[in-house]
Amino acid sequence: MKLKLACSAFLVPFLAACETTPPRADVVQIPAFAETERVASSGDAADDPALWVAPDAANSLIVGTDKQAGLYAYGLDGNITQFLAVGRVNNVDIRQDVTLGSQVMDIAIASDRDNLALAVFTIDAQTGALAPAPNGIIPIAGFADPYGACLYHAADGTLYAFVTDKEPGTVVQIVLGWDGTGVTGEEVRRFTVGSITEGCVADDRTGLLYVAEEMVSVWRYSAEPDGGETRAAIIPVDGVHLTEDAEGLALVERGETGGWLFVSSQGDSSYTLVDLETLDVAGRFGIGGGDIDEVSGTDGIEVMIASLPGHPRGIMMAQDDEEDGGGQNFKYVDLGAILDALGLE
Ligand code: CA
Ligand code: CA
Ligand code: CA
Ligand code: CA
Repeated sequence: MKLKLACSAFLVPFLAACETTPPRADVVQIPAFAETERVASSGDAADDPALWVAPDAANSLIVGTDKQAGLYAYGLDGNITQFLAVGRVNNVDIRQDVTLGSQVMDIAIASDRDNLALAVFTIDAQTGALAPAPNGIIPIAGFADPYGACLYHAADGTLYAFVTDKEPGTVVQIVLGWDGTGVTGEEVRRFTVGSITEGCVADDRTGLLYVAEEMVSVWRYSAEPDGGETRAAIIPVDGVHLTEDAEGLALVERGETGGWLFVSSQGDSSYTLVDLETLDVAGRFGIGGGDIDEVSGTDGIEVMIASLPGHPRGIMMAQDDEEDGGGQNFKYVDLGAILDALGLE
C-alpha cells in the first residue's frame, strides 16, 4: 500500500520525505533513453506496462495503465498512439501468437477494478490496435478489488490469466478460450497469499508463477492449474534487498531455466535482480543520471527481450511516480545497459 502524503507547507518541515524516497545512492543509476507522454489522470495514476512486439520491431508498442481511466499504447518514442477509456484497469499483460479456439491471436489482459473482473483485449497482429474482446469482461466471484494480473502461456498451448485480489491476496487462475461469439474464461484454481498482493509474472518455459506479497516476500508457485498452494520464498521484503512495497515483476529469460527475476522495490526507488536458478541476488540498480528525470517510487515494470532499433538486447520499462513538471509516466531503459552495468550477460 503506497501512502500518499500531501506535501503541504505545514507538513514539509516534519517529514523526512514527501511522497517518495529519493533514489538510493548505493545502487548504480542507469539513465532512461526515452519516456512516454504523461497519463491524463492526476495523482497516483500510471501503474503497469506491457509490451507488444510488431512484425517490424521499430513499430512495437508499450501498453500502460492509467489506473483511474484506461489503457494507453505508446510508440518506442513515447508518443501516445491509442487510448482506450475502459475505466480503472490496474495491471496489464500481453501474450502474442496464442491460439484461442481456432484463432491465432495477440491478447492483452487487465485487472478491472470497475467491473470486479478480468478484462480481455485483442491486439491487431499487424497494427497493434487494441480493442475490448467480445465477451471480454469476465467477472471474478468474490473479488473486492482486482489488483494484479498476468498471463501464462503453457507448454501445451493453453492460455491462463492470473488475477490477484488486493487483500488478503487471493489469486485466481482462469483458463481462456474462444467459443465463436467471443472470449470464454473459467476459473480453474484459487489460493490466498496472505496479505496485500499485486505483481505477478509467469515463466512460460518452466511453468512457474512469481507473486509479490507487497510487504512480505516474493513467492514462487507452480503456474499449472493443479499446482495447489505449495510455494517457496524467493526474496524477502526486508528493507535491504527489497523495500516495501514489492511492486512489479518481470523476467529476463536465459536458456531453459536461467535468467533473472526483476523486482520493483518501490520504497527505495530501485530494482533487484534475482538469479532464477540460484535465487541469489544478482544485482540492483535505479533509473536516473541522464537527461531524462529519474524514476522514483517505482511501480509496475516490464522487460522486452527483442532486437529493437538501437537496443539490440531489448528494453525495460518502468512506471515513474513523479514526472518532472508533474504527473506520472513510463520510462524506457536499454536492457543491455542494465546487464552490462551489473556484469551480467
Ligand atoms: Ca501495489
Ligand atoms: Ca502497482
Ligand atoms: Ca521522475
Ligand atoms: Ca521527464
